[in-house]
Amino acid sequence: DKQQLSCAGCGVSIQTEKKELPGFVPESALQKEPLICQRCFRIKHYNEASSVALDQDDFLRLLSGIGNTQSLVVHIVDIFDFEGSMISGLQRFVGNNPVLLVVNKVDLLPKSINMNRIRNWVQRQAKEEGLRTVEVVLCSAKRNIGFERVIEEIEKHRDGRDVYVVGATNVGKSTLINRLIHDYSDLEQELTTSRYPGTTLDAVRIPLDDGKAIIDTPGIVYSSRMTEIVPRSFLGTLLPDKPIKPLVYQLNEGQTLFFGSIARFDFVEGERQSFTLYVANGMNIHRTKLERADELYAEHKGELLGGPTLEELEEIPGWTRHTIRIKRGSFSDIYISGLGWIQVNRDSGALVDVYAPKGIKVLQRDSMI
Ligand code: GDP
Repeated sequence: DKQQLSCAGCGVSIQTEKKELPGFVPESALQKEPLICQRCFRIKHYNEASSVALDQDDFLRLLSGIGNTQSLVVHIVDIFDFEGSMISGLQRFVGNNPVLLVVNKVDLLPKSINMNRIRNWVQRQAKEEGLRTVEVVLCSAKRNIGFERVIEEIEKHRDGRDVYVVGATNVGKSTLINRLIHDYSDLEQELTTSRYPGTTLDAVRIPLDDGKAIIDTPGIVYSSRMTEIVPRSFLGTLLPDKPIKPLVYQLNEGQTLFFGSIARFDFVEGERQSFTLYVANGMNIHRTKLERADELYAEHKGELLGGPTLEELEEIPGWTRHTIRIKRGSFSDIYISGLGWIQVNRDSGALVDVYAPKGIKVLQRDSMI
């Protein structure tokens, strides 16, 4: 009976339906002895971590086990979707264990950026979210920037303990773990996965040479992130893969910007001023008059305005409006989870409306850049 099978590596229940969930084994491999899930299989045979995801409830169950361990928690977040990829309430779950905050994908920031400023910004934001971190490290797992610092900081704070790596989906957790496996674990020793003591944690242990391990947990899925609700075909437009080129728009009140057909920004009230867009370079931006915006969208969504297509839009929740008042004298970003942000450049204040699919996190924050 399929339901009874569990992975000899990580202990997770075996399933043959969904590749992206823990415990997946292709039907054809069910007879193998010992039976291990695809994720453990790949680490064992190819030294390669792969992404799997959990929904929030299962993830919280997993997370609450970490408080009872002696470990270093490495929390990976995505600088392009910072608030969306922060695990809310992480501090409650980790107990007294130290948290190292690794901020990935810094290669996406515009080239001229001051990294110290970004690091201070991250530190402030994390603190505001109630997360105490022993250190904040900026890196790019893909472009191999700052990775030595990541290892140094892990070594410094690990203190001979296990390392739990946690993060939301798509933050680059498996890319980073693959680097850790290659650069950090003892390659002389065969990589094996082993069952986590106690109940199923859906986590994979990658042994280190001192008998401790890096524990790769599944990514958490947050439906408040744009990247989780759009079809795969649109992800390529949404996610930058090169440094962002900021786009400056001089707007008068009563003007609207469309971001493809996925979001809309109305400058409702305020003096003429410039807004700087930090979105993927491939995103189609269309400027129009606010009074024409509804009509334009009705006529041209999914086509002239850019993706997602009409068909894909049917699968995405309709828009909600977020009214945001930017106070005089505050330098803010209007952040739309997964899409990017709009920097407000003048201290004269503004009233704006943002339309984004229902449930997507939209907020005003202190300017990152
Ligand atoms: P996971 O779901 O957190 O395990 O994330 P993956 O490692 O599968 O990466 C998700 C996506 O982000 C992939 O398209 C990666 O190529 C990309 N990615 C990972 N790390 C970086 C990085 O440092 N910079 C950039 N630009 N992209 C990255």
